[in-house]
Parts: sequence; C-alpha cells; structure tokens
Amino acid sequence: MPKQTYLPAVLFLILILMPGAAFCARTIETAQQIIMLDPGHGGALNGLISPTGLKEKDITLNLAKKTARKLEARYNVLMTRSNDINISAEERISIANQKKAALFISIHLNHSNTPAAFFYYFDLSNTLGSTKNEPDGTWMSTPLAHKSRNRQVAKQFAHFFSTRNPEIKTYIKEMPTIILEGAAMPALLVEPLSISGLPSHPAQLETVLELYAQLIADCAGHYLKNQ
Ligand SMILES: [Zn+2]
Repeated sequence: MPKQTYLPAVLFLILILMPGAAFCARTIETAQQIIMLDPGHGGALNGLISPTGLKEKDITLNLAKKTARKLEARYNVLMTRSNDINISAEERISIANQKKAALFISIHLNHSNTPAAFFYYFDLSNTLGSTKNEPDGTWMSTPLAHKSRNRQVAKQFAHFFSTRNPEIKTYIKEMPTIILEGAAMPALLVEPLSISGLPSHPAQLETVLELYAQLIADCAGHYLKNQ
C-alpha cells in the first residue's frame, strides 16, 4: 500500500486526539484544590475602623483579592464575597461546604498596638452537643471532625508568619465562633495585621497589603502542599 494512503488516517487521528488533549487539560484544572477566602464583614458592617478612617471590611476585601491573585495559578480560589455586601456567617460556610473547599480562610484584622497576628480555629467547648442542620445539609455543626486539623493549620500559619517576620508576634487561639462553625474542611480565621498600624497613604497601604497577601498565600500553599 502506498505511504500517502495513511495520511488522511493520521490527520483524522490528530483531530480526534486534540480535543482529547484539551479535555485532559480542563480535567486537571477542575481537579485543582479549592481555597475559599472569606473577607470579613461587608455592607453595613464595617468591622474595625482605624483612627484615619480605614474600614476593616474594605481592607479584608482588598487583602483577599490580592491573596487570590497570588494563589490562582496553582489553586481554584473562590471568595465568599467580592464586593461590599454583608453575608451571614452560615452562608459563608455553606458556600465553602457546597464548593467542597479544601481550606477555608476567613480574613479579619486586629487592633493590636504592636505588630501581631492572631490565628483562630473553632473550639466547641461552649457548644458541645449542639448540632444544627440546614434542610439541604449544607451547613451543619461538625467541628469535631476537623478539630485537630484546624489546630494544625492554625499552628502552621502562625509558624510561617513568625519565621518570615520575627517582629510579628503570633497567637493561636481556640474560639467557638459562628464564623467557622459547621465547616466541613479545615477552617481558620486569620487576623494577620492591625488596623491601627496601617498607613493611610494609598500607595503605602497597597505595599503593606501585598506583603501580607503574599504571606497568607504562602501559608495556604505550604499547608495544602503538605497534606
Ligand atoms: Zn473582623
């Protein structure tokens, strides 16, 4: 048989295989782990306000967006809110549960006088025995299942922060907070910086937030890589 006869068959095979290759790429992309970032407060709820008028709800959103940009090449990063709206704590956790996130990070600020970062994980000491279920099963109190992993993720974040920036004092705390209750994945509330120490000059503020976004992104990446 002359060689040329094979050419249409080869072309046909290439056409068949190419969409297959594209499909594989999409599959890999959708298989990326999901990180759910939760910018605290929003809408009518400002959270903390700095002496210069900076609002926690704006800083947390800015910080979450910057963190997302640093992670999105490696992870599927989702946010519970991407604009100035308030959503309930249950809704925030429900979104993370529905999307089957691998890690939930709620971002807030503290108002320490010195550089300090707080890492909270859920503790049910005051809520033992209370199990709440939504009819669709998207939000339920299952903190016990992840308590040790929650503590572990808080420790890893705190360790990363203090190693990278020894001048930042880090604190790990248990808290029966509604913000983390019901998470079906390791969940953490971070207060990585103080609103009182933020510069009011927009360019300087952006520089500080970029730095902290990188820290949070590196912590999240480090944690997930070592699972
Ligand atoms: Zn807050």
